[in-house]
Amino acid sequence: MKLFVIETENFKVDGGAMFGVIPKSMWQKVYPADENNMCNLANRCLLVDTGHKKILIDAGIGNKHDEKFLSHIFVNGEGNLIKSLSKAGYSTNDITDVIFTHLHWDHCAGATYYNENHELCLTFPQAHYWTSKKQWEWAMQPNAREKAAFQEENLLPLEQSGKLHFIDHDMELFPGIYIRITDGHTIGMISVIINTGSYTVALPADLIPTTAHIPLPWISAYDIQPMILLNDKINFLNEAYANNWILFFEHDIHTECCTLQKTEKGIKEKDRFSLNNIL
Ligand SMILES: [Zn+2]
Repeated sequence: MKLFVIETENFKVDGGAMFGVIPKSMWQKVYPADENNMCNLANRCLLVDTGHKKILIDAGIGNKHDEKFLSHIFVNGEGNLIKSLSKAGYSTNDITDVIFTHLHWDHCAGATYYNENHELCLTFPQAHYWTSKKQWEWAMQPNAREKAAFQEENLLPLEQSGKLHFIDHDMELFPGIYIRITDGHTIGMISVIINTGSYTVALPADLIPTTAHIPLPWISAYDIQPMILLNDKINFLNEAYANNWILFFEHDIHTECCTLQKTEKGIKEKDRFSLNNIL
């Protein structure tokens, strides 16, 4: 099994929203904001090549959004989904499966694009698509708070492909690739745990979007059920520490991966590194 980090793009979100009830005087030291109080986030996907399957976890933002939307999110950086795949030695046609941790735009919009006739097309025409059943149903009937995050144009082409599959419980989806479903960030969000045989890489998705969110009360205001997220985060970190998992962060622009250590103040990050260093 081979893993590749696929950098898509960076984008900015309001620092206050990113760190919820934590005062800026504290989070600013750990994850500094720019002059507009915006924190620059990475958007990183993970490609797992099992030999038989080329599985992409999340698909980034892509290029479908209009200028008005982009003016709120300040897409930046050198990353690009297709270029990053090609750098790893793969084309969009090679991808056999796409697992969406959830269907917020920053995780799934890159899976579709508009062609020159403004028709919606699939970026990965050969792929099967996987999401949790709860998340799909939640995204299809969006509440007012998350409505802007669930965009029809990202979702309907997946359904129309006839290759959209639903996961309804924690399971081993492919050999060595385990699915965990939690409801704190959004209903039915998936974290993925990948056991390569030599080590385990865990992608918590937005359960722990950056290393700054490892301390228990550091919970983003985007999370729809913070107390449930808190509980799921405790369980995830305990299991990750006990089993020496390497955490892989989709949104931490400063840190790609870390290991964990137990301290008097709870579980904290230990070593920070990029995934390539251990591959
Ligand atoms: Zn999200």
